[in-house]
Amino acid sequence: MKKINLSYALLLLLSAAAIAQDAKNDLDEAFAAIEPKVIAWRRDIHQHPELSNREFRTAAKVAEHLRNLGFDKVETGVAHTGVVGTLIGGKPGPVIALRADMDGLPVLERTGEPFASQARGEYNGQDVPVMHACGHDTHVAMLMGAAEVLATHRDRLAGTVKFIFQPAEEGPPAGENGGAIMMIEEGVLDAPAAPEAILGLHAWPGDSGTLMYRSGSFMAAADGLQINVVGRQTHGSSPWLGVDPIYVAAQIAIALQGIPSRHLDITRGPAVITIGSIHGGIRGNIIPDEVEMLGTIRTFDTGVREVLHAKLRKTVQAIAEANGATATVSIEGYAPVTGNHPELLRQMMPTLKWAAGDSQVIEGNLITGAEDYSFYQERIPGLFLMLGVSDPNIPVSDRPSNHSPMFNADEDALIVGVRTLVGFALDYAGATTP
Ligand SMILES: [Zn+2]
Ligand SMILES: [Zn+2]
Repeated sequence: MKKINLSYALLLLLSAAAIAQDAKNDLDEAFAAIEPKVIAWRRDIHQHPELSNREFRTAAKVAEHLRNLGFDKVETGVAHTGVVGTLIGGKPGPVIALRADMDGLPVLERTGEPFASQARGEYNGQDVPVMHACGHDTHVAMLMGAAEVLATHRDRLAGTVKFIFQPAEEGPPAGENGGAIMMIEEGVLDAPAAPEAILGLHAWPGDSGTLMYRSGSFMAAADGLQINVVGRQTHGSSPWLGVDPIYVAAQIAIALQGIPSRHLDITRGPAVITIGSIHGGIRGNIIPDEVEMLGTIRTFDTGVREVLHAKLRKTVQAIAEANGATATVSIEGYAPVTGNHPELLRQMMPTLKWAAGDSQVIEGNLITGAEDYSFYQERIPGLFLMLGVSDPNIPVSDRPSNHSPMFNADEDALIVGVRTLVGFALDYAGATTP
């Protein structure tokens, strides 16, 4: 009797597993049906890119789509132009979030596509060309596709999905707030539907259809740096009568490069300090009063980031003081580290492999670029994956990078992104239950 019970239990377990498997596999028709729509949406959004905090047309398109799908809630105007859709599944379960960013960049498109952008916009008071040079057009289209597949199969969704269409990932225009941090301030992660996990994808010049991940830190934390060195103006022929801020700034620029190599624990991840702009003086025979230096800092570990900031301030002050100058240092955080929560990544790995194929889910190297997605991950566990969108026949070195005027997406990759988003939503509850 006992034996029979055991076999019966095993049979039940096996069939439950098979049903769970089938639950996604019989969506093949839905994915086939959604693919041409996702491609059409992507082309339309690509042709009509909008700058950060100006995503009016894109947001309206998204909101109309979610309303037509019968979403339980569609909020607009979140953090200026953001759209947040809430879809409640047919079965009880956790709340999760899926995120796509919507903004384009001031770049003149040179892809030569029939749907290439001819749009223009205003950026910090200047008339500029606008292009989806970072692939956010694909992010919006893929999330719209996932919304349709999940809304039409909501009976099998356990829990609630929050669809976050975020403005201004590239950074709001001067003098404005925006992006992920503002979405969070406006309550996107709060009750009544507070997500406990989040997934984001980013188009990337990897082989088309691959998903690239890295457990733990993946993309850098980025901080903006401004140093003002104040000396005392005098004639260029008699430097001893003043304090030369150019000489001091030069020492600072050199000394900062010693911080990553001599003072940081590089076993906890690399760091980059770049001074990208240095301005002071007006002609050769005047030692000026002041020099302004602008730069960027990249790190992959919170502790390393703190040590670097402290050491940088101390180095600048000490060099200024030794020379009789004064200096001010201002470090403005753009974004913390973006990565993949190790336990969540482990739990969702079968889903990622289902979505892209076993051999198409690959571990990547660190990326020194940054993402404001990291602000969501400061609050809740999340995954952030790079979706390859480049033709594998093009050598890696010839593939246009994100932000290039030639950046483009192989549209065959888009359905892999849709499958990843849908798979995460459908599997999360089961995969994370102990
Ligand atoms: Zn970008
Ligand atoms: Zn981007």
